[in-house]
Amino acid sequence: MQRNHASRKRFVAAVCALLCGLAPQYSGAGPADRNIVLVTLDGVRIQELFTGMDAQIAATDADSGAEDIAVTRKRYWRDSAQERREALMPFFWKTLVPAGMVLGNQALGSKATVRNTQWFSYPGYSEILTGEPQAEVQSNDLVRYPHATVLDYAQRSLALKATEVAQIGSWDGFKMAASQHDGAFFMNGAFEPVPAALSTPEMDTLGALRGQVMEVWEESSNDALTFRIALAYLKRHQPRVLWLGLGQSDDWAHARRYDRLLDYLHLADGMLAELWQTLQSDEHYLGRTTLIITTDHGRGRTPKDWVDHDAGIEGSQDIWIAIIGPDTPALGEVGEYPDVTQSDIAATLLQYLGLDPRKFNPDAGPPIPGSLQAR
Ligand SMILES: [Zn+2]
Repeated sequence: MQRNHASRKRFVAAVCALLCGLAPQYSGAGPADRNIVLVTLDGVRIQELFTGMDAQIAATDADSGAEDIAVTRKRYWRDSAQERREALMPFFWKTLVPAGMVLGNQALGSKATVRNTQWFSYPGYSEILTGEPQAEVQSNDLVRYPHATVLDYAQRSLALKATEVAQIGSWDGFKMAASQHDGAFFMNGAFEPVPAALSTPEMDTLGALRGQVMEVWEESSNDALTFRIALAYLKRHQPRVLWLGLGQSDDWAHARRYDRLLDYLHLADGMLAELWQTLQSDEHYLGRTTLIITTDHGRGRTPKDWVDHDAGIEGSQDIWIAIIGPDTPALGEVGEYPDVTQSDIAATLLQYLGLDPRKFNPDAGPPIPGSLQAR
């Protein structure tokens, strides 16, 4: 980290020595103007992400729970894994991955796993945000823990205003996991209106709709509404660091509705596309913003237990991590790569902001190897 930082500085100095006299408009863009958007999709398996629709699950209605599997097949079944995943998540595979990197395809030799032993949501989000498994986190209860998160650290280190760090999500657990301090920065719970001082008429309408659109589980609000609130917040307040937490993938899987899960992943892919296009059309974000997309846990690997996760359900430890941004090399889908863990996401995120992960948490996992390219 220090070495990268130093060599980057030397590189910028060398480039400046060559160009500054000729091109006085050269601004030497660096971490000081970087933004981070972290998106989490709850409980999305590597099987769907890397190979699309699963033939074994789809083989029987009892396993898939699908209403009309023929309709689902028409939408998402293709002969090859590459075609299937592109049919399911076209933006992710055709635009994001070629310009960035995705880790976790074990068939190619890239393994990404959680280090916590719980294999469900709160322990996963806690590991993502604190850089290590937190032994105290043993349930999804809505409890705030004392561990500093990367959001806390980025706010403190970069002296960001409370509006410049934001957590917006469809489950109140995200609000708890986001920070060791309630109200340290903008946090938005599942059904919580955006406070009047920060809101817009659009955010008010979306917030009201959250209370009217029913979800599979009563504790979660609708991801499309959460997504739109996040987009509106982004445009209005231009946060430097935003965590968008989406949750319905987990709900449809628990409900054993494979058809709805695949439809949801397709919708989520559209949200990622719109988010990325929004970032590219705003000069505060264009060319300065890293998007990190990951999941809190995997799920069972078999046609029977794909609906579940938790300790003991093999496959629940398998995750994936995707990154795209100005400081990330375009490695695409990596294979034969060093193993990485969920604990490495925090340091990876901080490096793009020019912050030293060891000062955040000496016990945090290291940045993902090769995830930072020299500027
Ligand atoms: Zn779950």
